[in-house]
Amino acid sequence: MRIGHGYDVHRLTPERKLILGGVDIPWQLGLLGHSDADVLTHAVMDALLGAAGLGDIGGAFPDTDPAYAGASSLLLLERVMEKLGAAGFQVGNVDATILAQRPKLAPYLPQMRDNLAGVMAVPPGRVNVKATTEEGLGFTGAGEGMAAHAVALLLER
Ligand code: MG
Repeated sequence: MRIGHGYDVHRLTPERKLILGGVDIPWQLGLLGHSDADVLTHAVMDALLGAAGLGDIGGAFPDTDPAYAGASSLLLLERVMEKLGAAGFQVGNVDATILAQRPKLAPYLPQMRDNLAGVMAVPPGRVNVKATTEEGLGFTGAGEGMAAHAVALLLER
């Protein structure tokens, strides 16, 4: 078994969509980034790559590469899964937490879990997605950005 951790932050800005776990969430602000800036999926990918000893998404998908401009992070997760498969790993389970003051994310969490589980080809019960505020503190509390943490367990085939 191999364990990995991922952490990511993106800034909130007007005129961007808010995409979390592949779910398009209606909100006045969205996350700024080279791809769709799906901070949850980015943290999950970094946890997977970390567990496999395969570096990070900055190395796998450079933000200088126009191929990834506006890219769906679920498609990037598919690429990560190809890398894991080639290296002989499968996903055991993933647990992730989104840090966001607003909007209320609870209604969207099951769809995020299902999206991530689908791409990782595991039953939804092996994926857990949570959300919390930071009680108005720091950059997430001020609504300047969102962060996400993830841990992943990989199984060697
Ligand atoms: Mg990111």
